[in-house]
Amino acid sequence: MKSFNTKIIAISNQKGGVGKTTSAVNIASFLAITETPTLIIDMDPQANATSGLGIDTTSSKHLSIYDVLINNKNLNQSITKTEIDYLDIIPSNSKLAGAEIELVSMFTRESVLKEALLSVKGKYKYIIIDSPPSLGLLTINVLTASDSVIIPIQCEYYALEGLSQLLNTIRLIQKNLNKDLNIEGILITMYDSRLNLSKQVINEVQEYFGDKVYQTYINRNVRLGEAPSHGKPIILYDPSSTGSNNYMNLVTEILNQDG
Ligand code: ATP
Ligand code: MG
Repeated sequence: MKSFNTKIIAISNQKGGVGKTTSAVNIASFLAITETPTLIIDMDPQANATSGLGIDTTSSKHLSIYDVLINNKNLNQSITKTEIDYLDIIPSNSKLAGAEIELVSMFTRESVLKEALLSVKGKYKYIIIDSPPSLGLLTINVLTASDSVIIPIQCEYYALEGLSQLLNTIRLIQKNLNKDLNIEGILITMYDSRLNLSKQVINEVQEYFGDKVYQTYINRNVRLGEAPSHGKPIILYDPSSTGSNNYMNLVTEILNQDG
């Protein structure tokens, strides 16, 4: 079997509702559409990436990321196929909420996910990890296991608020747990070109992050909001929508950066 130089990308921001899951699901889907073997890992107890890809989060049919982190199951056993060829998922469910506390007493509590990922390295070109809206041990595991992080920033008042806390966490992880962690890119989400506010936010973000900001912005798009309730990524729900085009362009940008 072909072995890949696997790249692991976290999608993180402890602020809630900024478009982490929407970005994780659709970046992973568009990578897979280009026949790039991709794994998405749902590290959020809300399990929105799992249900957003049409996987039943209450079924006991699939082992979940909880079983991997806490019950010592091999990651390979919890790989679940999605509707898209080349896209697999490690599902989540509400049990994962308990892991935040159960991890505390573990010996290598920050690097349980990193260790677990060793067994699938080489099998995928990209591993995309969705994070919960907090900076607890689940997110620390995500950042410790990743090569880089994409930070979605929602176009709204106080967009940059709380970001220094995230950047500080990233710096601490670089110093102590994962010196190779990079910022892959800053992603503007829920952009509305009719609003002056959107332009102001972009100016602020660009001033702060310079060329780390992706040229592709994700527009506010009703179809993107609807797709998860149908258990489909946007490429299957409405491939001609603005949201679908945005995520396709973003993935082109990501692939171009990686050469
Ligand atoms: P959480 O912190 O709770 O995990 P999140 O950061 O993962 O949230 P999402 O779940 O991706 O954020 O998005 C929040 C809500 O906004 C969801 O209902 C989603 O469908 C919707 N949404 C995300 N992106 C867009 C967009 N570009 N246009 C319209 N709606 C969007
Ligand atoms: Mg989410």
